[in-house]
Amino acid sequence: MIKNGKLIVVSGSAGSGKGTVLKELFNLAEYRYSVSATTREPRAGEADGVDYYFMTREDFLIKVAGGDMLEYVEYCGNFYGTMREPVDKMLSDGYSVILEIEVVGALNIKENFPEAVLIFLSPPSYMELERRLRVRNSESEQIIKERLEKSKKEAESIIEYAYLVINETGEQKRTAFELHCIAEAEKYENRTRKDVPREQDLILKTAEANKIDAQKAENFLRNYFS
Ligand code: 5GP
Repeated sequence: MIKNGKLIVVSGSAGSGKGTVLKELFNLAEYRYSVSATTREPRAGEADGVDYYFMTREDFLIKVAGGDMLEYVEYCGNFYGTMREPVDKMLSDGYSVILEIEVVGALNIKENFPEAVLIFLSPPSYMELERRLRVRNSESEQIIKERLEKSKKEAESIIEYAYLVINETGEQKRTAFELHCIAEAEKYENRTRKDVPREQDLILKTAEANKIDAQKAENFLRNYFS
């Protein structure tokens, strides 16, 4: 077996269905997940070393100063970061590694690891995103509004991603398969076309990944958060 793991960065707003899709993805092949470090409090059911490495701000900043973080951000008042050593090890062992991180961190990874593949997972529409956040019924109106605003802001960076994959409601397995196809294809060639403008490349790859025609992909990208 040829061992040539890829660094796959997946971002998506709250309500994009990231968590479920990634669970399905891990059933499809031997991906490795990079467990991030964070200073936020664990939520019910979260375990240290599984969901995150939970640490104090002081310990986190010591790791940053020691160069132990591949990237980190301060997000909603807490630090989140990707630990360098486990990621290096998993990649050198030949595994594809999934980083599930927000947009600023993803763009830092792109800067430092141009060979990383950035995938933005989106709900089918802004209205659907709003509906999913409300159905969860776990957040106050204020927090829902904040998350929607944040999603709009994050969507401005979609152009920096290599792919946009639409997670249609109830289609998490299919979405996971699309991510898997992208990861496999990217293992063997860098599929970013340098001869077409960035926007056109994203439109073409979005069409291909979601099996829609280019016009539909372009409309989706133009209208998504406008
Ligand atoms: P949550 O607190 O809901 O688990 O995560 C909040 C946000 O932080 C999510 O968008 C998640 O993708 C992002 N995140 C989690 N770990 C990391 C990390 O290591 N680096 C960066 N940049 N973002 C992260």
